[in-house]
Amino acid sequence: MSPIQVSARTVLQALQPYSPGKPIWEVQKELGLTEVIKLASNENPLGPSPKALEAISALLPALHQYPDAQSFAAKAAIASEFGILPEQIIVTNGGDELITLVSEAFLDHGDEIIVPSPTFSEYEFGGRLMGANVKTIPLAEGYRYDPEAILAAVTERTKIVYLCSPNNPTGTILETGPLKRLLDSLPQHVLVMLDSAYSHYVTCDDYTDGLELIRSGYPLLMLKTFSKVYGLAGIRVGFGIGPQEIIQSILQVKEPFNVNALAQAAAAAAIRDREHVERSRSLVHAERLRLYEAYRKLGLEYTESMSNFILVRLGPDAKQRYEQLMQKGVIVRYGGAWGLSECVRISVGSPEENDKLIHALEEVVQGK
Ligand SMILES: *Cc1c(COP(=O)(O)O)cnc(C)c1O
Repeated sequence: MSPIQVSARTVLQALQPYSPGKPIWEVQKELGLTEVIKLASNENPLGPSPKALEAISALLPALHQYPDAQSFAAKAAIASEFGILPEQIIVTNGGDELITLVSEAFLDHGDEIIVPSPTFSEYEFGGRLMGANVKTIPLAEGYRYDPEAILAAVTERTKIVYLCSPNNPTGTILETGPLKRLLDSLPQHVLVMLDSAYSHYVTCDDYTDGLELIRSGYPLLMLKTFSKVYGLAGIRVGFGIGPQEIIQSILQVKEPFNVNALAQAAAAAAIRDREHVERSRSLVHAERLRLYEAYRKLGLEYTESMSNFILVRLGPDAKQRYEQLMQKGVIVRYGGAWGLSECVRISVGSPEENDKLIHALEEVVQGK
């Protein structure tokens, strides 16, 4: 047989593969460890809402049936939680799918998107997939947003401005005032995608997840996920809220059965489980402070976070220290892919997991 000569689209050459944190089983196998904890993907250490688990079990006998193409029940639960119309919601196969769908719905070849840097990698991925040009705007001092620089980058071809608040991996937010001023200054043809995947963990009055701005009529699309505070990362479900016209366009490119039946049921149950959300938030708020204290004692610089992860500076040999932590059974995320070669991003775990992390860090820092 001759070698395969079928060529993939040229844009694929510019795509960077997503680099997830190493799974627990892989580290166990590679390093021969039994006890391994993962603080690399910002998951909820309390696990899924028990109500979501019940909903999933109840649905198992009906798995021969296709899921609801409109995710009606999940949408209804989301609509009532946020006080909006079901027509303003799209339910997706994780928040990631929403980013791909938005890219497919709005980006022609040669269009531009504006992306802060460092941030979640999927925005750039979606843009490149569609052959759009990606303009990255560095965050300012202290990883703060720079609305002036964002505005200065806008052209007639700009279709989407991505804002992640709290931003992954820095944990910083774009406060309500500057966000509103940015929205008021942007030309009408620009869609703002506000990724508020981590909104539940914010402890700052001057914050909006975008809902009030959508209500006021701005061309803003808000991304949310069930993977983080709701503890459902494994089942893949997220959603977008925005003006009906925007949602309609995105619905045009979605596959009919994009969200599986179990995910739809789990989402509807999880969003109603206020108690689980509250427990998850309080855990993060308390442990975040405890981790700051521990990092200070270890002489490590960190960025104060409005989220369930903290960016910690481990210094010039951060990569080596990241690997040493792994050898001690603690998986964190190395910052190299974000151009933060001296940093790691560490999720806030359960108190026991955080104890183990602190202990491992102490040994690594003291060269044990
Ligand atoms: C985790 C995350 C998402 C969504 O993740 P899914 O698991 O695909 O729902 C979106 N944006 C950011 C910034 C995230 O960290």
